[in-house]
This record gives sequence, C-alpha cells and structure tokens, in this order.
Amino acid sequence: MKQASELQDLLRRIDHKGYPAYKDTAGRYQFGTYVLSIDHVQGDPFAAPSKVSILVEGKKAGFPAEMTEKKHTRTALADALIRRFAREAEQYSHKAKGSGKSGLLSVSRPGQEVLERSACEITPGSGDLILRLEIGFPANGRTINSGELIKILFRFLPECAQRSLYYKNADQKHLEEVRRLAEDQYAIRAQLRERKLAAFVADGAVLPRESGISDRPMKRAVAFRSPETMAVELALPYAGSVRGMGIPQGVTLIVGGGYHGKSTLLKALERGVYNHIAGDGREYVITDDSAVKIRAEDGRSIQKTDISMFINGLPNGRDTKAFVTEDASGSTSQAANVVEAMEAGTKLFLIDEDTSATNFMIRDELMARVVHPNMEPITPFIDRVEELADTYGISTILVAGSCGSYFYKADHVIQMMQYQPAEITELAKQEAARFADMTKDKPALSAAARPAFHRVFASSKKAAQNERMKVKGMGKDAVSIDRDTVELRYVEQLVDNEQTMALGYMLKYAKQHLFDGKRDMQEVAGLLEQLVEEKGIGAVCEGRYLPCNLAVPRVQEIFACLNRCRSLS
Ligand code: ADP
Ligand code: MG
Repeated sequence: MKQASELQDLLRRIDHKGYPAYKDTAGRYQFGTYVLSIDHVQGDPFAAPSKVSILVEGKKAGFPAEMTEKKHTRTALADALIRRFAREAEQYSHKAKGSGKSGLLSVSRPGQEVLERSACEITPGSGDLILRLEIGFPANGRTINSGELIKILFRFLPECAQRSLYYKNADQKHLEEVRRLAEDQYAIRAQLRERKLAAFVADGAVLPRESGISDRPMKRAVAFRSPETMAVELALPYAGSVRGMGIPQGVTLIVGGGYHGKSTLLKALERGVYNHIAGDGREYVITDDSAVKIRAEDGRSIQKTDISMFINGLPNGRDTKAFVTEDASGSTSQAANVVEAMEAGTKLFLIDEDTSATNFMIRDELMARVVHPNMEPITPFIDRVEELADTYGISTILVAGSCGSYFYKADHVIQMMQYQPAEITELAKQEAARFADMTKDKPALSAAARPAFHRVFASSKKAAQNERMKVKGMGKDAVSIDRDTVELRYVEQLVDNEQTMALGYMLKYAKQHLFDGKRDMQEVAGLLEQLVEEKGIGAVCEGRYLPCNLAVPRVQEIFACLNRCRSLS
C-alpha cells in the first residue's frame, strides 16, 4: 500500500503533462483512517469520469453491530450514508475547475426507495465499508491540472468522508431512526405473511405524489384511513401499535368513480415491495414483496412462453404453449406478463384496468352470445382469477372502474371515495346477485393446465467470446448490451436507473456464462439472484472495477429483463 504523500508527489510530477499521464495514479493509497482507491482513470476530460472508492475499516468506521449485521438494517444504513455523503459532495462538485467534466464529484442519488447499491457496501461481521463515487480529473484543455485534483483528493474528499463515513461524527439520532424504521418495515413484512395479508396500508399514509415527474409526497394530500371492517393492528418493535388497512390474500377489487384515487392506491401498492425513507408518506405501505404489476405491453417480444391458460387456437395456428412473437398484441402481452410473473414466483398480481387489454380482462355476455366461444382464442383473466388464487395461491388486487363482472369473483371490494377507502363487499355482492342469471348458462370452464416453465435458451458463442460487450442504460426505459436493446419501460416496478444498469450487467453475465442450451429460465434467473445475494452486485460485473451506479433489482425484474431480450433463442 502506498502512502497519500506518494500520490501527491506523483500528481505534482505530472502537472501540465498530457491527460494520459493521469493513468499512473491508479492504485490504493493510505489516507489517515481510510484507503483511497483510484479504480479507473478516464481517458480524457470529456469521457465518463474516473472511478474512485473510499475504504474504511469497520473498527474505524465504528457503526454499531445492530446497524450492520442484519441485511435490512445494513441496507438502510448504507442508503443513509450515501445520501449523507452525496449532500456533502454536492457542495464541492465543480469547485475544482477545468474543461469537460473537470471537478465533477458524483455520487449515487437515491430516490424515495431504499435499495441495495454498489455506491456503498458494508461487510457484515467486520463492518468494513466502501463508498464508491466518480470524479472528473481536472484538466485545462487536455493538459493535466493536478493542483485541482490535489484539492479534491486531499481537501474535499477527506472532509466528505470524515463527516459521513464515521459513526462518531454522524448524526447518530438520525441513524438510529433509520435503523428503527427498517426494523419496523421488516416486522410488517413478516406479519403480512403470518396473517395471510397481501398488503398493508397504514392510517395516515400519504399515497399521491407531488406530480407525474416527482416521486415526493403530495403536499396537503388526504391522508389514508382504513375502513373499520378491514382495519388491522400490527404490533411493531419501535412504532408500537400501528393501525391500517390489511388487504387479505385472495381477490380484491378496488372500485370507485373516476379521479377518486384508485390508481394512486394501486401505484402505492406496487411500490410497497420496497421500503421507503422516512418522510415519504409510504413508510408503512407494505406489499407482499413478490408482487408484480401486470399490464398490457403491445409490441414486446415473447420467447417461448406458455400462454395456453389464456390463449388457445389462434387463427394462424401458432403454438401458444411456447409462444414466440417479436410484436405482441395487448392480450398476448398481458397473458405473457401473467405467466412469466408466475414463473418468477409471484404471490400477488396488481392490475389496473386503465393499463390492461380489455379483451384479456373480460368478455361480456352479449359478446359471448354473438361471437361463439369456439371462435374466441382468449380465456379472459376473469375466468382464471379464482383458480389462480385457489390452485396457485396467487392473489389479485385489481382496479376496476368500469367493469362490474369482477364483483362475482372478488373476496373483498374496496371503494375509493374522495381518496378514502370504504369496504363495500356486501353491497357489491347483493347487487351482483341480482344480475346472476346473466352468467348462469355459461359453459363450465376447464381447469388450466399448469403452465410449462421449462424454457431453454441456447448459449451464444458470440456473446461468450465478446469480453467487451458494452452495457448501456437508457434511464429506466431500456438497457442495451452491444446493439441489443431490451425495453423495460413497462416494467413498472423498476424504480431506479441503477436497477436498469444492474439488469444490463446481469443479462450480459447470463449470456456469457449461464445460458447453455440446458439450464432453463428459472435456473438462470435463480443463479443470478443467488450470485448477487451471496457476493454482492459486483459479482455480475467482471470488469476491472465495480461501477458505482448499480442498484439490486428483485428477482421478478431479473425475469422481466431476461424475458424481454430479443436475442435469446
Ligand atoms: P382514479 O384512478 O380513481 O381515476 P387517480 O388515482 O388517478 O384516480 O387520482 C386522481 C388524482 O387525484 C391524481 O391527480 C392524484 O394525484 C390525486 N389524488 C389521489 N389520491 C389523493 C389523495 N389522497 N389526496 C389528494 N389527492 C389525491
Ligand atoms: Mg385510474
């Protein structure tokens, strides 16, 4: 290990030289109580900034074991440290000057969700901590300005590190609150399972967001309050007894007039698979963490998915047991989304009529009378929803603003009225009973065959040999490896660009090492999940350094990404 003074000497020597001389700074340097590691040096001042990490030994960082040992509190602590470090670094960004990205200090910017990120990793046991960031190494034109880099590495960074990465200097009260919230959220998830609930929405929760482009809570929103009949009290280790709406497993309908808050409730449930930071309003909105939002997704590619429980006997004779298309329709895409979510192990479907294909969701009686069932390839979701709950143990929460037929199938009906829920199950059932004759002479539906999940994809020699396959993220919308773009815009529970990037690396890893013509999709996704669980997100990035902008996605999104890859066959 070199000393910080050696780095300083080196930097003084290369001042005014051509930019490539910065390459020699790569390496590790002892800076007082931490190690500075220059992992990758950019090629020129306009290229992606250099990758740097700060390593602090657990003994020196000093965070209490109760914050670093359990996975959920560790993730929450790391998230809090990133936010804190980012706030510190912000003051210094571009304080050092020069051309291009000179002087840039960039750290991950987490949103409202608490995710596991490569930007900060803490090792259980030792408590060793690593924080990753990007720095634009300063230059004038393409001439090194090492005085400015010395400013960053020897003044700015040590201050940021001192203020945010050591327990003794931290806002200890805040970190204790972060830990307690993580423990409470964890306890709610455990109680959902014990009480056979699909989701919980606490009284007082703020569900709507500030705007379509801001994920912060809406100001002066109507706070959520559970209807008496669906209220449950959960005993949490720190928040004490918390009352809220418990949505039982089974089939739940959310109805109500337009603009009364139905989609807002469903959106909050979609996000409830993640934990939210204090002040978000959704801290205690917790959903079964395997839940998958299901929607229509015209145009997506489908590779060998067995959609026969919904679609059979297509006019062109296409095989729906291993359905392949490069351009799915509304109904086939939604069918594939359901079956693939089953394959990914979901226990809860979340569906909004607004984003569904009508012919996938229902067929009304009149249509069934006019167009004979023999001529209709689609068995709508309404005819499978009970079977999915009873046989497969997969619940559904469905927003239905216009279609009453689901009243027959629902275990619970919630009506949103002026942003407040009321339970109207009895009323809905009574009204539905008066129309019961309409469905009476319907032929019985045969049970669906269990979908075949054994989907195997060939190994790709080209991919395996191409070590330099580039992963490129396009926000949350897509990720491309080489020129192969995977559209993820409608994978709505991807909440962060960094998850999309991580999926890109996972797909690349799967193409290079996992798809071998023998393992099926479940094995491949399972191996990716396991690898990241055991070794961290870095395990799927085989480059010389670990990018500082990756967030761990759920296994459901890993499947979603693999399933949308057009180059698998
Ligand atoms: P629906 O799906 O029933 O038509 P939305 O959920 O889209 O209704 O909500 C309509 C509007 O009301 C949105 O602009 C949303 O932000 C706002 N809204 C939703 N819930 C609340 C609330 N609790 N307080 C205030 N405004 C809300
Ligand atoms: Mg709506």
